[in-house]
Amino acid sequence: MNISFELFPPATSNGIGKVVEIARQLADFQPGMISVTYGAGGSGRERSSRLVAELNKPGFPAITAHITLSGQSKQDVLQQMDEWQEHGVKRFVALRGDMPDMARPFKPHGDGFSSSLDLMAHLASHGAEEIYGGAYPEGHPESPSQSAELDHLKAKQDAGATALITQYFFEVDCFLRFRDRAESHGITLPIIPGILPVANFEKAKGFSKRCGASIPQFVHDRFAGLHNNPHESALMGASLTAELVMELADEGVEHFHFYTLNRADLSLTACRMLGVRPT
Ligand code: FAD
Repeated sequence: MNISFELFPPATSNGIGKVVEIARQLADFQPGMISVTYGAGGSGRERSSRLVAELNKPGFPAITAHITLSGQSKQDVLQQMDEWQEHGVKRFVALRGDMPDMARPFKPHGDGFSSSLDLMAHLASHGAEEIYGGAYPEGHPESPSQSAELDHLKAKQDAGATALITQYFFEVDCFLRFRDRAESHGITLPIIPGILPVANFEKAKGFSKRCGASIPQFVHDRFAGLHNNPHESALMGASLTAELVMELADEGVEHFHFYTLNRADLSLTACRMLGVRPT
């Protein structure tokens, strides 16, 4: 079983120590990687860099830096990459990203990379060892059509992506259908399911709306009445996540990427259910 975890940089530099402590708990489970997100439009760039630098040390698995191109010049993006490469980072999640206000559709920066494909091709020709691309089992909100989206995904493979990580989803069939469609479209890259353990359902509803991930009725039902009950909400989130990963494992999935939201317990419970234990 191969597991990986995603962390995001804290809102202020003072919070870095706390995230490093969470990363230590996660690292005990021997993940293949820990990835660090990068703010939309390059926001919070320094905090991403600092967290990457703090984690890229003995005792932690390979650190993977997310990089987005939206709202930034090519020079800005290249400067950021140079900084990471100085830290020895050679694995990237290469993304287009969103416009800084998220409400507007993507428009390339006048002096920037034009798309995620452009960024991946650059990384591939500049020594990146792993390049992960984003994939959307339910379609990206800006997707013109399912077949155009699959063409775009195939183009990520051709541009040098080495694996794809999906947006989160709550139904196993959603992932399996997507994986079948991708395979019949000639996509041979590993497709790693992105798993979101939900501890705060109200927040999850908000960002699911923005990123186009649907929440099935049974998930609403499970969280009903738990609005003011963070403890039971977290237990419910852990149970749902455990069910989801166990069902995926039954379908032969062997790699899981957890969107931890900087909280170790729910993801680690799911890992234990998969038979992954701390060393
Ligand atoms: P792309 O897949 O390149 O484009 C988005 C969609 O637009 C495509 O799926 C497709 O539907 C359509 N499209 C674009 N070009 C074409 C084309 N030529 N032909 C047809 N259709 C096209 N955001 C952050 O700000 N920071 C992060 O650290 C971050 N980490 C993420 C990690 C993962 C695993 C995922 C899945 C998402 C992450 N995001 C992050 C969110 C991501 O930036 C947004 O979802 C963004 O809107 C899309 O980025 P992308 O690289 O997947 O875009």
